[in-house]
Amino acid sequence: MIKIYNTLTRKLEEFKPVKEGEVSMYVCGPTVYNYIHLGNARPAIFFDTVRRYFEFRGYKVTYVQNFTDVDDKIIKKANEEGVSSQEIATKYIQAYFEDTAKVNLKEDGMIRPKATEHIGGMIKIIKTLIEKGHAYESQGDVYFDVESYKDDYLGLSHQNLEDLRSGARIEVSEIKKSPLDFALWKKAKEGEPSWNSPWGQGRPGWHIECSAMSHKYLGETFDIHGGGQDLIFPHHENEIAQSKCACGGEYARYWIHNGYININGEKMSKSLGNFFLLRDVLEHYDGRIIRLFILSSHYRKPIDFSDAELTQAKTSLERIENAVMRGKEALVEISSNGSSCIELKEQLALAKEKFVSAMDEDFNTSMGLGAIFELVKELNKAVDSPINSDGAEVVKESIEYIDTVMSEVLGVKLKLENAVGNLTSELVEFILEMRREARAEKNWAMSDKIRDRLAEMGIKIKDGKDKTTWTM
Ligand code: ZN
Repeated sequence: MIKIYNTLTRKLEEFKPVKEGEVSMYVCGPTVYNYIHLGNARPAIFFDTVRRYFEFRGYKVTYVQNFTDVDDKIIKKANEEGVSSQEIATKYIQAYFEDTAKVNLKEDGMIRPKATEHIGGMIKIIKTLIEKGHAYESQGDVYFDVESYKDDYLGLSHQNLEDLRSGARIEVSEIKKSPLDFALWKKAKEGEPSWNSPWGQGRPGWHIECSAMSHKYLGETFDIHGGGQDLIFPHHENEIAQSKCACGGEYARYWIHNGYININGEKMSKSLGNFFLLRDVLEHYDGRIIRLFILSSHYRKPIDFSDAELTQAKTSLERIENAVMRGKEALVEISSNGSSCIELKEQLALAKEKFVSAMDEDFNTSMGLGAIFELVKELNKAVDSPINSDGAEVVKESIEYIDTVMSEVLGVKLKLENAVGNLTSELVEFILEMRREARAEKNWAMSDKIRDRLAEMGIKIKDGKDKTTWTM
């Protein structure tokens, strides 16, 4: 049973999907006006892991993450550089894919819609909101009327409407009825991209795009909506208001928000000068290390980014890979009076149980990794002394489990051979294939010659029942 901490109820809740065996999930994506920073990388990596975990548990996942490709910041950047907003968006969407490929996001089957390709859907929702009395047109803009929904507004951010009212700056506005009302549609200004609408030329506000895109790809009610903590208010709060008022349905059932990233103990911000782009960090650290570092903490906790933490992640990864390599080596030196690896067998069963229960409890990747490290420790111990064929089975299963969890579920692909190593193994496999053919033709002299020559090069081969294995 998977449990999720739902921001909406502030409780750990049992996950019950809208459709049995399936998960529909929407996560707010980046506004594409710059390269992504670490604060964007954390949700990208975490929610990718959520998707992978659901798949590991047998669910069919539909995962949507948008690109905000029309926005004030994009327009500003386009004007500064003297190019169109679209050119800016295209450039940074491409850069997004370049950067995130290095932290191994699973793109297969993902839906990545762009806001500008869904303007029609947004206009439709805005029209419905006006018809139902939840929005009004004013001088070419359209605003959501917070008063019309005041009883249910702020349910996600758990704020008080009165506090918000008194906290709002007294805006002298002839356009909005209340300073809390938010824009659904903005009248076109000089030098801005715009679209036709029933209210004249203009462009959508930010919040409406996520309602339109989630409705289109996941339906009016879907399972999970995610994003960084900073999106709870106003973005997600406003998404809920407009979606519920337009459709009357439930919108997203579970709201998941990840914590901030601190840099050496301080909040990451442009003004503090400690703002890190993912591509800059990737120049110093392998994407797998960044990914492991991010998953080493529980997603709701703030995470402290520092060289020391990344170095620790690097050491952890090496420890896992070394144990797996040692295990592989042990598999080719089986001795009949070796160990059956009973302790490892027990630890493997325990690790499987612990990993799933940690991840089932609100995606606790940190505890899940703990289970893997315990297994790694026991694997190292097991291969310190010779193993027998029963022991080899256990070692093999342990290696496979570690590799599945790390590479497939957590997305930290274990590198068990370097590039030269890969070429070597392909060559050895090829030579072994030649040897198999020689044996099939009963050319024992050739078969022995190949074996001896390989041995001279330090490559030991071992003929098993139906497979020949080798080690260097
Ligand atoms: Zn959004």
